[in-house]
Amino acid sequence: MPHYQPLIATIVAGFVVAFVMGAIAIRLRVPPIAGYLLAGVIVGPFTPGFVADSGLANELAEIGVILLMFGVGLHFSLKDLLDVRKIAVPGAIAQIATATLLGMALAWTLGWDLAAGFVFGLALSVASTVVLLRALQARNLVETERGRIAVGWLIVEDLVMVLALVLLPVLAGIQKNPQGASFSAIALPFVGTLLKVGGFVAFMLLVGRRLIPAALHWVVHTGSRELFRLSVLAIAMGVAAGSAYVFDVSFALGAFFAGMILGETPLSRRATEETLPLRDAFAVLFFVSVGMLFDPRVLVEQPLPLIAGITIIVVGKSLAAFAIVRLFGHDNRTALTIAASLAQIGEFSFILATLGTGLGLLPDAARDLILAAAIFSIFLNPFLFSFILGKAGAAPDGSAAGTPPSADQRHVVLVGYGRVGKMLAAALRQRQEPLIVVENDAERVRDAERAGFEVVRGNAVERGTLEAAGMARATSLLIAIPEGFEGGVIAEKARQINATARLVVRAHSDGEVDYLAGLGVKDVVMGERELARCMLDRACGQA
Ligand code: AMP
Repeated sequence: MPHYQPLIATIVAGFVVAFVMGAIAIRLRVPPIAGYLLAGVIVGPFTPGFVADSGLANELAEIGVILLMFGVGLHFSLKDLLDVRKIAVPGAIAQIATATLLGMALAWTLGWDLAAGFVFGLALSVASTVVLLRALQARNLVETERGRIAVGWLIVEDLVMVLALVLLPVLAGIQKNPQGASFSAIALPFVGTLLKVGGFVAFMLLVGRRLIPAALHWVVHTGSRELFRLSVLAIAMGVAAGSAYVFDVSFALGAFFAGMILGETPLSRRATEETLPLRDAFAVLFFVSVGMLFDPRVLVEQPLPLIAGITIIVVGKSLAAFAIVRLFGHDNRTALTIAASLAQIGEFSFILATLGTGLGLLPDAARDLILAAAIFSIFLNPFLFSFILGKAGAAPDGSAAGTPPSADQRHVVLVGYGRVGKMLAAALRQRQEPLIVVENDAERVRDAERAGFEVVRGNAVERGTLEAAGMARATSLLIAIPEGFEGGVIAEKARQINATARLVVRAHSDGEVDYLAGLGVKDVVMGERELARCMLDRACGQA
């Protein structure tokens, strides 16, 4: 390469090393996030060999934050947001206050002054958007009530951060010149920021709400897929960046509102699909960029404060959040989910730490401590999630929770309780066929249970899930999920357990049909072909 091209080098190193480490993590059955973080350590400045540009990596990670928040906004309505405010606003504030006080206590024992303690405590109190949303998405919780509370909570934390970032320079000024402290010196920037946030919300609801759907409808009518894809990205990133520059709110909040407005149109499903691949790729770069910050010296220089900091984040914050959610009358499961979601810190804390040290409010040791504590808390989060949710009676990723069928029962196993699976299940019931449904989406599991079916919750790609559904004794397996390739993997696993059961698999493309035929699956139903046949029958039958 004639010239060193830092942006390309950072993206390539980020993707390649994250892929390798992520693949190893999955092989070792640990959460892939651990692999991505380690990838960051490998391409980071504190390990030998290639060093990626951490400034660029951070900016790239910000794109991941924008697309994640945009995606969440697509599934949120203004009503959802207002519904959760009763718990999210007091909850987030009380929890931030508790964590900040705990952080200040730790800072006091380390001999730091009050302002340093305050910034340090604040940095320990705010959770990372990326970590929280990824954790919820991995478990299909975003669209549940618990998920909505967690997202509402996150938005309040985001707003508190916007305020904190404005007030820190004021605090630094007062610390240097205590005579300059006056009510107006603090109140003015505070009120100014609130006005800007209010202006942003009003602008989005009055202008954005008309402009964005209109623009998108126009694009749909041009018939160009490329333009549609581009318009979704342009809206997500354009609104995020525009609101940050004009109204000083965070990228995340801007993207969330853009998504929420688009979510009101029937195009939201398509918009979600268009952004998924980019979103996932850039979210991975977030973890790489975090891993790059890890300086192992802190382990030697401040081991005890580090353990105390991690304990505040993982135990202190979780307990506070748990207690608050329970106080508001929600059940254990909701409280545990919120507690697990918030038991980590990330990008906001890095921004606070960098700004705090830049302004002379925070000693360098505190910044190093925040970075290291963040990395450990992010690393621990998936384990904590599985542990806590396991205790709450909900199955963690990939594992199954359900009553196995009685030993002598011969039954049908149905994978997927969506548009197709639901109809199959109802028809099988009419024929009085014993049935066990396998489904990995929390809401759909609830639908199936409400309809009175026996359900095993989990990913059918996992052998354990199929075993829990009694695959060994099944007469047939109906794979009613839209992904034919994934269906093939499930069919292969099922065959290892039970070689004689009849397999019927749903597919949607010729490629999938060929692939399934190659695996020896005889009964493949290609959705589009059946549709065409049926439409032809109707047209010719009526002619
Ligand atoms: P639909 O496309 O509406 O028929 O929905 C398909 C359903 O299958 C959804 O409810 C998915 O959650 C579910 N599903 C997809 N893949 C899997 C899988 N690997 N294991 C279990 N359920 C799945």
